[in-house]
Amino acid sequence: MEHYAHLALAYGLACWLPPFSKMNGRRRFLWALLANLCDLIDYYILAPMISPSGLVPALLPNTWPWRHRSFTHTIWFALALALLVRAFLPRWRDSLSFLALTLASHYVPDMLTAPVPLFMPFCPPLGPFPPAKHIAGHTALFVGAVLTVLKLRVRRDEES
Ligand SMILES: [Zn+2]
Repeated sequence: MEHYAHLALAYGLACWLPPFSKMNGRRRFLWALLANLCDLIDYYILAPMISPSGLVPALLPNTWPWRHRSFTHTIWFALALALLVRAFLPRWRDSLSFLALTLASHYVPDMLTAPVPLFMPFCPPLGPFPPAKHIAGHTALFVGAVLTVLKLRVRRDEES
């Protein structure tokens, strides 16, 4: 699914999910970006090492756990990331909020579009779950935009 759809959904959810809902827009955007770290690693770190351009040979094989939607799309990666971000968030419940943000904005929409190895190596990849496949990206983008606009509207009403 497209990066911007994941990001829009993460930002929209973060508008309502504490502690991100209490942050300013720039910090909330950074947390929404971090909630989609799995694809950023896949596309910008692993993919160039799997299929490099030019004369450099491939540094990694295009197989599990290196290719797109491999170890970065497991629940273990999401849990490890939630533990790591505890260093930047004041309470454990904030880390759980971050885990929920990651799962809701990235893993679930991904599962609608293609298999996700959520419990690998213990369970085969889950999904896709048609007929949502072709509309998941647009739906995520739309829901994220609606949540963001609603939050702006509520804030404006509170200020007036
Ligand atoms: Zn993904």
